[in-house]
Amino acid sequence: MDKTALKKVKALFLDMDGVLWTDKKEIGNLHEIFESIRETGLTVLFGSNNATRTPEEYCEKLAGFGVQVKPEQFFTSGIATIYQLRKDFPGGPKVYVFGSPSLKKLLTENGIEVVEENADVVLASLDREISYEKISRAMIEICEHGAKFYATNTDSTFVTENGWRPGGGVMVNCVETCTGIKPFVIGKPNTVMIDMACQTYGLAPDEIMAVGDRYETDIAGGINYGARTALVLSGYESKDTVPFLDPKPDLICENLAELVKTMKRL
Ligand SMILES: [Mg+2]
Repeated sequence: MDKTALKKVKALFLDMDGVLWTDKKEIGNLHEIFESIRETGLTVLFGSNNATRTPEEYCEKLAGFGVQVKPEQFFTSGIATIYQLRKDFPGGPKVYVFGSPSLKKLLTENGIEVVEENADVVLASLDREISYEKISRAMIEICEHGAKFYATNTDSTFVTENGWRPGGGVMVNCVETCTGIKPFVIGKPNTVMIDMACQTYGLAPDEIMAVGDRYETDIAGGINYGARTALVLSGYESKDTVPFLDPKPDLICENLAELVKTMKRL
């Protein structure tokens, strides 16, 4: 552990699923953990590949655990998609969303036009109502109308209180398989989200610590960006997978509570 490097950290970039909760169940006492983070003076930002909820919905969920946060603290792959689409299509794109109603709502509320056909962009994400018709529509938009292919994330699975379930990567693979085209991926391990967070809060890459439960997305994304990284073993990775991770994260902790204790002791 390089204490000098860790002391430069001003903000935590927290993944949520597998770090804060497994679906509806909190990991540890979140109210106490966030009180403890407040005492360290670290800024808390949230970065999740999960695009099925809006920042307001996440605030409500955290409030249910006695944690008060603001929508501006959230940089989900949905939010970062809007940032990227505005950059890539300054005139405003028409987007066919192969994803959740919350993602459609988020795009619409942020002035992005969501269409059912004749799209400039096909956006694939976790869709619990996946259907052959939706895959066909995505294919037609890309192959016949020349729409560009974006994905909020390519996570193969995500954790629920009943165990691991198929993630957004499954929908992305469906479209990739029938079109033969690879998407531009917004989520981790790409750095669109963490970069947006740092730009917004005026942080340098080595002043933010990416915290997550999955090496290939959360930690690899942090390393790609030049951030400090902390792996928590409360979700996807376990003591069994740690020996195979290379390069190693700056910190490996049982859970978020233990990470906060470690940061306090620096
Ligand atoms: Mg996670």
